Amino acid sequence: MRPDMTPLRRRTVLAANWKMHKAPSDVGPYFASFRRATARLGKRLEIVFFPPAPLLAAVVEAVGGRAAVGGQNCHWEQEGAFTGEVSAPMIAAAGADYVLVGHSERRREFGETDEQCGSKLRAALAAGLAPVLCVGESLAERQKGRQRVVVIRQLTRAASGLAPAEYGRLLIAYEPVWAIGTGHTASPADAQEMHAAIRATLNTVAGSAAAVGIPILYGGSVKPGNTAALLAEDDVDGALVGGASLDPNDFAAIVAAAESASIA
Ligand code: PEP
Repeated sequence: MRPDMTPLRRRTVLAANWKMHKAPSDVGPYFASFRRATARLGKRLEIVFFPPAPLLAAVVEAVGGRAAVGGQNCHWEQEGAFTGEVSAPMIAAAGADYVLVGHSERRREFGETDEQCGSKLRAALAAGLAPVLCVGESLAERQKGRQRVVVIRQLTRAASGLAPAEYGRLLIAYEPVWAIGTGHTASPADAQEMHAAIRATLNTVAGSAAAVGIPILYGGSVKPGNTAALLAEDDVDGALVGGASLDPNDFAAIVAAAESASIA
């Protein structure tokens, strides 16, 4: 399923980040359960699975075009002496359409900089992928009231200067670091405030036509019980879900909650 390249139509996107979890033998049972649990849902939402790189092809086959698939990270070069890395063309060749760029775990554990995120984003676009640029402040930055400054800096440094058609393929995930895997979710009002700041920045960086269409997902301890309230906010266009996406029934419940919020 190729991502919609039309910049003016904003869409609802539910994304599952499996991080470094699951084995090949989990893929079949996961999607059998997920399909059963989502059989009654409409087809209005875009669903994307981000499995570890060795599972990409198996997940592409298992979803059979009913959902999209993405890599969790890519290198900025197409190939070369970068032991342990995976390039954007390799991810595309596995049948994926998306890639996460700048997840906070990559920034924290592997020292990824905004400039490297910008290079990865461009490599992803050149390979025909839709990059999901992850931005978000740490707890210390929020406690100092610096959340907007930090997120705007991450966004402008990585995503300035793209061509208009490239902005049509970009997605943003606002993931406050203090909310990832902690059980502490941003309140819907706090999420909306940050998403509005991100959209205003996109307006400057990408132009008004692109800015209205770029989906901005919220990530950070999204669960079935808090999805609808988050997605009811004007600028929250979907969710990037980590822990709760590992259980197919929990992720299906999040998809169902998102569907009811997007209908309401
Ligand atoms: C994530 O990994 O992007 C994430 C948001 O994780 P969690 O849902 O577990 O907080």
